[in-house]
Formats: sequence, C-alpha cells, structure tokens
Amino acid sequence: MTGSRLDPWIDAYAARAMGMTASEIRALFAVASRPEVVSLAGGMPYVDALPMDAIASSVAHLLTTRGHVAMQYGNGQGDQSLREQICEVMAPVGVQAHPDDIVVTAGSQMALDLVTRVFCDPGDVVLVEAPSYVGALGVFRSYQVDVQHVAMDEQGLVPEALSEALAACREAGKRVKLIYTIPSYHNPAGVTQGAERRAQILTIAQNAGVLLLEDDPYGLLGFDGEVPQAIRSHDSEGVVYLGSFSKTIAAGLRVGWAVAPHAVREKLVLASEAAILCPSNFSQLTVSEYLRTQPWMDQVKAFRELYRERRDALLTTMEQQFPAGTTWTVPSGGFYSWVTLPDGIDATAMLPRAVAALVAYVPGTGFYVDGQGRDSMRLSYCYPTPERIAEGVRRLLATVIEAELDLIQTFGNAPVHLPPGPATPGPDLA
Ligand code: PMP
Repeated sequence: MTGSRLDPWIDAYAARAMGMTASEIRALFAVASRPEVVSLAGGMPYVDALPMDAIASSVAHLLTTRGHVAMQYGNGQGDQSLREQICEVMAPVGVQAHPDDIVVTAGSQMALDLVTRVFCDPGDVVLVEAPSYVGALGVFRSYQVDVQHVAMDEQGLVPEALSEALAACREAGKRVKLIYTIPSYHNPAGVTQGAERRAQILTIAQNAGVLLLEDDPYGLLGFDGEVPQAIRSHDSEGVVYLGSFSKTIAAGLRVGWAVAPHAVREKLVLASEAAILCPSNFSQLTVSEYLRTQPWMDQVKAFRELYRERRDALLTTMEQQFPAGTTWTVPSGGFYSWVTLPDGIDATAMLPRAVAALVAYVPGTGFYVDGQGRDSMRLSYCYPTPERIAEGVRRLLATVIEAELDLIQTFGNAPVHLPPGPATPGPDLA
C-alpha cells in the first residue's frame, strides 16, 4: 500500500472521493466562529427570531398526541399532509403542483444530491452560474461531474452565454445533463433574474432539451414586497424545482423538497429510500404543525424586515467606508452581497489578515470550480446585528487598506492582474 502516513486508506477510496476535499480555508473558519469575530461568512439564518416558546408547545403537543407517528419510520416520499401544505407554501412563487409531485428531503441540499445521482454520470456536464452555490458545487464534484460556469450579470445568468455554453458542449460532443440556476436572491451573487430573463432561460433549456434545476430557498425573502415567480411556474415537465424551510422556518429541522415531473419523481423517491429510507418524521411533523398552528407568513414577513435592515446596514457602511474601485451587488432579498475588490487585491490571500482583524468573509474562489473569483468575496448579512455588520465592514476596510498598501510597496502603481487561484469549494461554507 502506498497510502499517506496520515490516511492508510488513501489508495482504497473510490475515484469519486477524490473530489471530496476540505477547503484550505476551513481551518480559518474555526477561528472565525469565535464570538469576538464578526462573521460575514456563513449563511446562517437568524433563527433567534423564531417564536421558540410557541414551537416548544407545539412540539410537546405533537409528541403527546402523535408521538407514535413522529418517532416512527415514515413514507419514503414524505408525509402526505406536509406535502399538501408545501403546495400552499409554493403558491406565492406561482408553483402549482399536486402533493404526489413532491419529494420531501433532508434540506434542499439532499434534493441536489438526489437529482445529481439520478441524472449524472462521471464526465457529464452541468452548467452553473459564475459564481455558484458552494454546496451544489460540492455535490456535483462528488459525482465527478464536469462543472462549467456560465456568465452572470446584475440580472443573473446571461441567456446569450448560456446558449453559447450549450453550443460549445454540443460541438465538443459533451452531454449537458442539467442547467443549475438560483434565480431569486442568488447565493452568492445576491442578484435576481427578472421575469423576461427567466422566460429566455427556460426557452433556451427547452430548445436544448436540457433539464433545468431551479434552486429556490430564498424566493419568499424579497425586501420589496414582490415575490418573483418561479421558472417552474411556466413549465412542469422541463424543470425540477427545489424548495426549503431552512430560511423561512428553521435550518436545524433539515426539511426541504423537490417538485419534479412524474417519472423523475419516482426515481428521486427510490434514490432517497436507498440513501435514508425516509426523511425524518419528527422534523416533518414539526414543520407541519408549525405551518398549521403558527402565522408562518407573518414570521416570513418579520424575517424579511429583519434581513432588509441588515442588508441596509451592510450597504450603507460599504458606501461610506469602502475605497474607490470596490464594487458590490445590491441584493433585493436573501442573505448575500458579492463584493469585488480594487485591482490586484486577492481576497483569498487577505483572509488570514481579516480574521486577525476580527472579521470573516468567504473568498470568491470558493464559488467557482476553476479558480476564478480571487478578486471577490461573499458578504452575508443574515446573522450579525446591524451594529455588528457596520463594525465588521469597518474592520474589513482596515484590512483592504493594508492590502492596498502592501500592493503599492511591492508593485508601485503598475496594474496587477491576479492569476486564477486554487479551486477550493468545500461544504463548510454554505
Ligand atoms: N441551495 C442554496 C442556494 C443554498 O444557499 C442552500 C443553503 N445555504 C441550500 C441550497 C441548502 O439548504 P438546505 O439544505 O438547508 O435546505
């Protein structure tokens, strides 16, 4: 055996495990989770705002009245009543589905895994936005998918770039299996596709005969009172739609779902049963009870207000503080803004210095499979209070200025072009 001294099993791993690597910045995040660090890194929903007492009594009620169901194995497709309620939850985004079309999963993360498992052989192409959700990139890598990025602008995925990518794959004889998109309040880019853009993207996918994988965990969290209509609302056969209760109720319950065309749904249920037998009955019934007994939409509205205030704190302080040459997206919902630094500043290299200054972010390279994104970072405003966010931005500014000074000392005023960085997506940054 030629395995490393640290891991005697290195030679025994399946080829697919080779793509499962921890990101180089994972260790830094252990430091970044200390309370004195303002973390603008993780996308942690602000669960402290939940009505915990009300949830506690409804869980107690659940256990006393239906404990024998909640503690038991359940149906592989998910609880029937919850699937009916999910249909109501999706009504505002325009998705009309029958409860039979829904597969309940352990968060939408698991739905991403199941869809990839069902559709992708090693070497198949999945087209994703540039940048894209790090957790999805991790799933695609673990199935040895050939992930290719497609350009975005301030309205999300660019239709012309999508057409070109599809044509290039066709010419190269590559099989594109999925187009993965996050149309609303994108993670990490913070942008949203307009209605026309969505229609164009759908038409391109339909004409190419490629399944669209629409990931929509933030769709209800818009700040301007508008709820973007899901792409799935225009096509029930060519789109798999993923939803989640992680951002609107509680990430800790791990309840999400997929809405899929009938035949695909059957495969997803079989794949899910093979993986976990059934989703947690306890979690599903807790969500179901919450939806039945709590004014859940009011709570969603409260979350919108809370996150809007935090977004404002981030944007205002960035406007006041950040040096010329720094740009950022203005999210109209969700958790994230994508910041591009002045020329030559490397967000990955700057991170240890930022953490030493007690602020953390996720460097842009984590959201690409090919080393792009060195000049960028994702800032999350969902968890810290507005005051902490403002303090975090001030600390970040000090770090950026130091990095700029270093650059001037090393290169004078000559323009500096960053080469691509190491591709380091890992599941730790969701
Ligand atoms: N998709 C996107 C775009 C996300 O941002 C996340 C979580 N950060 C997920 C999927 C997974 O969410 P969950 O498994 O908690 O539903």
